[in-house]
Amino acid sequence: MGILEDNITKLDGYLDRFRERGIQNRIDGKDCVGAGGVFTNRSPVDKSKICDVAHGTAEDIDTAARAAADAFAGWRDMPAAARRKILLTIADGIEARAEEIALCECWDTGQTMRFMSKAALRGAENFRYFADQAIKARDGQHLRSPTLMNVTTRVPIGPVGVITPWNTPFMLSTWKIAPALAAGCTVVHKPAEASPLTARLLVEIAEEAGLPPGVLNTVNGFGEGAGKALCEHPAIRAIAFVGESRTGSLITKQGADTLKRNHLELGGKNPVIVFEDADLERALDAVIFMIYSINGERCTSSSRLLIQDTIREEFEAKLVERVNNIKVGHPLDPSTEIGPLVTEEHYNKVTSYFDIAREDGATIAAGGEKVGEEGYFIRPTLFTNATNDMRIAQEEIFGPVLTSIPFATEEEALSMANDTPYGLTGYLWTNDLTRALRFTDKLEAGMIWVNSENVRHLPTPFGGVKASGIGRDGGDWSFEFYMEQKHIGFATGQHKITKLGAL
Ligand code: NAD
Repeated sequence: MGILEDNITKLDGYLDRFRERGIQNRIDGKDCVGAGGVFTNRSPVDKSKICDVAHGTAEDIDTAARAAADAFAGWRDMPAAARRKILLTIADGIEARAEEIALCECWDTGQTMRFMSKAALRGAENFRYFADQAIKARDGQHLRSPTLMNVTTRVPIGPVGVITPWNTPFMLSTWKIAPALAAGCTVVHKPAEASPLTARLLVEIAEEAGLPPGVLNTVNGFGEGAGKALCEHPAIRAIAFVGESRTGSLITKQGADTLKRNHLELGGKNPVIVFEDADLERALDAVIFMIYSINGERCTSSSRLLIQDTIREEFEAKLVERVNNIKVGHPLDPSTEIGPLVTEEHYNKVTSYFDIAREDGATIAAGGEKVGEEGYFIRPTLFTNATNDMRIAQEEIFGPVLTSIPFATEEEALSMANDTPYGLTGYLWTNDLTRALRFTDKLEAGMIWVNSENVRHLPTPFGGVKASGIGRDGGDWSFEFYMEQKHIGFATGQHKITKLGAL
């Protein structure tokens, strides 16, 4: 039996329980049906039904938020070393079930095994990293003034809501939930409706690792129902959100009445700028990797190539050759590089840009085609002869689709790089050090890599500017969000207190 057949057989075994019992909400350590009944979850690989999923509503969110509020004091007051131990056990549990997580993720989202096997392990790494940070999360400073010993400390903000999207859902959920738990917060998680499988596996693993009931609750459902109710719930102190920019605005509006703290990780239209003096072979590899890996459904993807006009022809020719070689296929085949797009709605959105590109006068130099009827497959696509004001250069397509735009000078490249509503990442390829310093200083992005693709390092800040988000994750920045600073001043003597009403 080949690896693909072997993977399909294993997946079948893992899916049996979902087919039989569906996915229930998990609240206070118990399975709960959704107040809205069920909705159907389908695979983008062949459009087949995977399972029924509990359709959570405001009622279920209320039950979960109350459970998270009840569990908060116990979890907050548990010694950090004990919390650390549970989080490390969760990491072990994720590793032990990495294959199950990866196979389910691929079937649910269309992502390929080639990338998702690592996503499960990165999820474990997120738990390990933040488990270790838990020990010092509450530490503060001593700030002496003439009359007071001023002490700061951090305390967990309370129960928080975590709302995640469908692209690499397992890794992104752990990226939010691990620091929240390490900080001492309890969580209500609303996973994306298009990819509920691995969120269910995560809550199971967490409970098996000894996480007390109510500390992590999972409510499935849709954005306008369960998601909105979570933002509006008075017991929920903060919302950690990953998703589209326009949803980010809704999250802010919905949380206004309860004065929610929001952390928003949103969309991007990230530029990769290649100058003629760069190592062009490495630049080519990175350009291709950063838009065609993970089906291009990646917030940090370099979806706009700004290429110096002197090297454009040769670079684009090599690009076309490589893009045409990319293997589209079954996501469980280890040789597959691109799988199907996640849903019919998203497939329709991404493929609509083929016509938009033509209407705007760009050239489809590679791809621009659907593949078969069975699932939501498309050929990796390259648009050339584009200008930065075209829709294909301004809008987040969120698929394996790259727009190439030429530039003549550094000033022009910088101006085009900054000329979008977004500002998540930027990638710069040049061997001129002073240019790199100048350029990165002016580039409007939360994260920039020079002569590199996106290589994530957990202690560094992750987040965007402009329409790409508000707030940062990573290292201590995560705790700044999930915790409150508290200041306490102790008088060190008998300093003068102004007397009022005294004769
Ligand atoms: P989305 O905004 O449609 O949905 C994300 C989540 O929000 C889902 O769980 C959805 O149910 C929920 N939601 C929708 N409407 C809501 C509402 N009114 N109130 C509360 N919750 C609501 O995003 P998506 O299509 O699932 O994901 C793709 C997007 O995510 C892309 O724009 C991508 O760039 C972005 N993303 C950003 C990052 C980052 O770190 N910046 C990472 C991954 C993905």
